[in-house]
Amino acid sequence: MINAFVALGSNIEEPARQLATACQMMAALDQTRLLAVSPVYESPPMGPADQPQFLNACAQLQTGLQPMELLDHLLGIETRMGRVRRRHWGERCIDLDLLLFGNREINQERLTLPHPGLYLRDFVLQPLQDLLGREYVMPNGEYIGTLLAVCTTGHLIKRNIQLSGGEDYGNPP
Ligand code: AMP
Repeated sequence: MINAFVALGSNIEEPARQLATACQMMAALDQTRLLAVSPVYESPPMGPADQPQFLNACAQLQTGLQPMELLDHLLGIETRMGRVRRRHWGERCIDLDLLLFGNREINQERLTLPHPGLYLRDFVLQPLQDLLGREYVMPNGEYIGTLLAVCTTGHLIKRNIQLSGGEDYGNPP
């Protein structure tokens, strides 16, 4: 079983509900347990500015799936939740990005691991740090806290939204 981390984002159609639904669907995946979910943060859109603020969080999975299988499941969840790709970096009901899959490095057309945006985005690094701690050493050899300090925009707002994790979503033994 491998530990994998998934970034969640949503900015339309009741984002908090979308994040909770995505957590439930990840917890129900084959050979997979949802171990933990970070706090939820509100962040400004990275792409076009004429769209609502995003809600972001990070989930820790334990899985027996292969990386590409997990990616396919995550894309399948996006599709089942009704995600429509309208414009680049535009509004979306759910976005699921595979950040880390153990310490695997993959450079394929359909899957890059670690995720290429991992080291650059505070709305990804902050919830990941909440799960792993600021002294967790990332695959590039740097502390997550150091990476976060460099890219913090000051625009992240911690929201009082409990997505929960672990036993609330865990599959029966
Ligand atoms: P986006 O909708 O912008 O998140 O992009 C999704 C596409 O990025 C998918 O078609 C994936 O094949 C590709 N992709 C490459 N690496 C990753 C990754 N680490 N996590 C999620 N999607 C990825």
